[in-house]
Amino acid sequence: MSAGWHSRKAENASAAPPGATEQMSSPSSPRKTHSRPCCTAILVANRRTWMSVLRRIDSGLDMVESCVTVAMKLVGPLLILAALGLISFCTYTFFTDAIPNMDAGPLTKVSESCVGLVLLANALYNYAKAALSDPGTPPNFDDALDSAVESDMPKPRKCLKCNRCKPTRAHHCRVCRRCVLKMDHHCPWINNCVGFANYRYFCLFMLFLYASCAFVVCVLSVHFWHLAFPPVVALGLGVHRHHDHYVRLSMQSESHILTTFVICFSVMLALSMLGGFHMYLVLTNQTTIEFQFNMGRRREARKNGEFYRNPFDLGRRRNFQEVFGPSPFIGFRWMLPCLAQRPAGNGMDFPSLRAGIAGIVV
Ligand SMILES: [Zn+2]
Ligand SMILES: [Zn+2]
Repeated sequence: MSAGWHSRKAENASAAPPGATEQMSSPSSPRKTHSRPCCTAILVANRRTWMSVLRRIDSGLDMVESCVTVAMKLVGPLLILAALGLISFCTYTFFTDAIPNMDAGPLTKVSESCVGLVLLANALYNYAKAALSDPGTPPNFDDALDSAVESDMPKPRKCLKCNRCKPTRAHHCRVCRRCVLKMDHHCPWINNCVGFANYRYFCLFMLFLYASCAFVVCVLSVHFWHLAFPPVVALGLGVHRHHDHYVRLSMQSESHILTTFVICFSVMLALSMLGGFHMYLVLTNQTTIEFQFNMGRRREARKNGEFYRNPFDLGRRRNFQEVFGPSPFIGFRWMLPCLAQRPAGNGMDFPSLRAGIAGIVV
């Protein structure tokens, strides 16, 4: 906006006829006393108009931000209920419609039920931990300042909104109205921030939810095939032996199976993108917020013929262990938080490849 004001000012100056300046600056000219105050008055009026427009835009943006914050607060619990409702519906369909009506022996049915239960339990456990855990709260600023003075450390940064210490990688969440250590984003589906202390639960929830959906899709695919396509088509494709069995399904079971298949398949597709993105973030040691900044820095470096590397990127193995703890990847203990070791660190300082960056331990 200010650029527009400056350009208009420049246009006015360039639009003046040649010699007009000299005419105005001449002490003997009678126009001098009238034209200069007139131009100044126009410029002042223009400036006031632009300032007023900017103020209105600012207040409008503040209002939009407040509305979004309130909406997020209201939508959060509703989305949790929606997520639990969808999980309950799919679980009910799996155990009461799909498994009992499977054309398989009891051993297969029991095995598939057990696998389904294990995946469901892990998904729900990680969901509860991600939603209910503290994502990481920085210490009180005054306490951090006292300890910094005692240990002769640099003065910590302060968040002016929540009056807490603001370490490296911490950000203030406008919805939660507090700072969060190594903040990734505010997730409305868990109605909580995703940060240093609950990021691994968030990732594991996505992983187990994806595995659960993929398992349900595999189990229901035979049902879905016969329900989605008429028996005549199935007969032509050589799978007619299931025809009599599927006729016995009630309309309610059929609709449950179709709906569950579509829900699980859609969630799988969504998690393929979201989970893939977070896998990339974990392996490159970035948060979602940092990823946006790093994109700009990378672009700038490319323009200057340089290569930008995220300073927290310590290599894939160490980046992975910074989120999931020191358990080796192949052992898969990191998938079970009750057995896996906690990640090292306190969320305040992070190892970095670069020296001399404030707040980073090298
Ligand atoms: Zn804050
Ligand atoms: Zn938040």
